[in-house]
Amino acid sequence: MSEWYEDGLCFSCTQSGNCCTGPPGAVWFSDGEGRAMAKKLEITVDQFYKHYTRKIGVRWSLTENVIDGKYDCVFLDRTTQKPGCKLYETRPLQCRTWPFWPENIKSKSAWERTKKETPCPGINTGKFISSSEIQITAQRKNS
Ligand code: SF4
Repeated sequence: MSEWYEDGLCFSCTQSGNCCTGPPGAVWFSDGEGRAMAKKLEITVDQFYKHYTRKIGVRWSLTENVIDGKYDCVFLDRTTQKPGCKLYETRPLQCRTWPFWPENIKSKSAWERTKKETPCPGINTGKFISSSEIQITAQRKNS
């Protein structure tokens, strides 16, 4: 069965930081990703887990800061003119696979809602992404 996005979609990250805030959520990361982020921050892995993470069930998430009623990822930097990820190059897979998450691509309306409600200025602009790339990315997010 063909997907609604069989002709591909366009997306380029504009680093708006808008997908790094909003309602409460979780930014899942693997142990290896935690080590990479600790290294980037030039702190120990223990310090990283102590200051920037929380355990939810059996998994680890980055923590959030509540600012003006919005839940910012702890690494969303609002001190610069344009908000952005402090760890962009080492951000976790969850962030790298945005916006091609299964829940966002399940239908055209879900995709358009994601663009509008995030709001994500990169959706439907920039680089062409084929349907097979979209599916691989969505599977990686869930792996
Ligand atoms: S790690 Fe970076 S890209 Fe991921 S949610 Fe946090 S601020 Fe955003």
